[in-house]
Amino acid sequence: MADMKKVVVIGGGYAGVSFIRQFSKFDVDAEVYLIDQNPYQYLQPEVYSFIANESIISDIIIDLSTLCKGLRKNIHFFKEKVEYIDPERNEIYGDRFSLKYDYLIVSAGSRTFFPPIEGLREHASGVKTLDRSLDFKQKFERKILQKIKEEGKVLYSEGKSV
Ligand SMILES: Cc1cc2nc3c(=O)[nH]c(=O)nc-3n(C[C@H](O)[C@H](O)[C@H](O)COP(=O)(O)OP(=O)(O)OC[C@H]3O[C@@H](n4cnc5c(N)ncnc54)[C@H](O)[C@@H]3O)c2cc1C
Repeated sequence: MADMKKVVVIGGGYAGVSFIRQFSKFDVDAEVYLIDQNPYQYLQPEVYSFIANESIISDIIIDLSTLCKGLRKNIHFFKEKVEYIDPERNEIYGDRFSLKYDYLIVSAGSRTFFPPIEGLREHASGVKTLDRSLDFKQKFERKILQKIKEEGKVLYSEGKSV
């Protein structure tokens, strides 16, 4: 349909997903495009239990394509990284695509701020992406293994090794 409005949402985190969930409840004639560089929504607040081995990867991510299909037929998901926004032309660009919009929602998250404290950057680990969480989890587990080796025994607490 020629006059069908196009709504583009960059970022499928809590903000972007909340928007499309709410939008899907209204009877509005519009095509909605959710764009994320990853195929999943990463549930950042759930990451503590993942790092502590109380949950697995599939507990802390939601498949964005399935989520969109379950909402409404005119909500589409594209796994792409947005490199540039041209507000003059109402168009977004990535390496392999460009997409025009009538309305643009930018919900691409934020970067961790590291205050200028000596040693912080090299010793602190951010967990704002799943890749970083995995790195942190592995580092943490390596430390435990190292401690077990150094102490020559495995400690147990309530049936779990620590
Ligand atoms: C460990 C931890 C615990 C937390 N606990 C709480 C809590 O208890 N309560 C609370 O309210 N908040 C909590 N937060 C904060 C909360 O998780 C964030 O505020 C929230 O995730 C932000 O959502 P968002 O949608 O703005 O961004 P994000 O969740 O970061 O989502 C941004 C999305 O945009 C995508 N994206 C970014 N750039 C591009 C691009 N160029 N092209 C395509 N896609 C792109 C990313 O892949 C990502 O999916 C916690 C955060 C962490 C790390």
